[in-house]
Amino acid sequence: MSTKGRGALARNFKQPLHLEEVDFSDPSPGEILVQMRTSGVCHTDLHAVDGDWPIKPPLPFIPGHEGVGIAAKVGRDVRDVKEGDRVGLPWLRAACGQCEWCITGWETLCPNAVYGGYTANGSFADYALAPAAYVARIPDRLSDVDAGPILCAGLTTWKALKETEAQPGQWVAISGVGGLGQLGVQYAVAMGLHVIAIDIDPEKLLVAKGMGAKIAINAQHDDVVRIVQSEIGGAHGVVVTAVSLRAFTQAIGITRRKGTCVLVGLPPGEFPTPLFDVVLKRITIRGSLVGTRADLQDCLSIAADRNIRSHVHTEPLEKVNYALDDLRHGKVRGRIVLTM
Ligand code: NAD
Ligand code: ZN
Ligand code: ZN
Repeated sequence: MSTKGRGALARNFKQPLHLEEVDFSDPSPGEILVQMRTSGVCHTDLHAVDGDWPIKPPLPFIPGHEGVGIAAKVGRDVRDVKEGDRVGLPWLRAACGQCEWCITGWETLCPNAVYGGYTANGSFADYALAPAAYVARIPDRLSDVDAGPILCAGLTTWKALKETEAQPGQWVAISGVGGLGQLGVQYAVAMGLHVIAIDIDPEKLLVAKGMGAKIAINAQHDDVVRIVQSEIGGAHGVVVTAVSLRAFTQAIGITRRKGTCVLVGLPPGEFPTPLFDVVLKRITIRGSLVGTRADLQDCLSIAADRNIRSHVHTEPLEKVNYALDDLRHGKVRGRIVLTM
């Protein structure tokens, strides 16, 4: 028997979501039906709803991939999750488990991966189905609201910081201190790194400073490359979460000789790469996509232990279109978390 509940459906790109009654089918073998309690709203949800990327989600779909809820129904053959367990529904909804990448610790690169809230219905709803093997376990000390943003924003920046290969005592620059970047600042501090925060919004820079950034630079008014090069000689690691192509070329300009620039943000388009700098400074440019299930368990427990939290503003699910609009206009100073 199916379960009825509300779902926020994208029926056309660049249009408001429709809050509708949806029939959520019973879990298939290996799946669980999760009664959602909260869901963070990631900028990726906005790219999905606007159809920004070369591969668009199939319409209609329910966005959302920072979902926290309780297992309401458990399908056959599920061993590790029981009814009533609290779980997290991340971007990597499932991977094949058998390809070259899945079997070598790189399941995020699985060519057959399914993405929650993109190629499968996500967490902007009262219920969502998920393969039990891929849901996250939420530490007790993280509330439903605080856990949401860790599932994507936290995971992605935690992994990206590791991908910079910066060592304790070295510098990382985080360009874009919105939902992702502000958690990145906190993880970087927890890793013993010195942080430079870069954004175009002075209020977000202030928040980043409050979270431990040593230097904050406004990319709208200041010469970011000159300041970073003159103050510290370039950052050992750079993580770009900014939704601006300009920030990507700038990020290479602030990378230190032999440093690594990790690209995370996904504004549609391309950016010019200054070949001369990249070659002569032996700079590594690397993409990074969320993180594995193991990365996710690590960053959840670190968030719980080290009090790593988004600057959260909650809204009921009915306000999802306002939340997306605020994000579109750069008005969100951290994360909006929807409550169901
Ligand atoms: P957000 O809107 O909360 O934050 C983006 C920030 O970029 C804002 O603070 C904004 O002021 C800032 N910004 C805009 N222009 C800038 C510039 N020129 N220089 C510096 N900062 C600038 O968005 P978010 O939820 O943090 O997501 C950021 C991006 O990361 C999105 O494109 C999203 O799709 C992508 N993303 C990627 C992954 C991944 O795994 N690679 C995971 C999640 C999100
Ligand atoms: Zn996300
Ligand atoms: Zn695979």
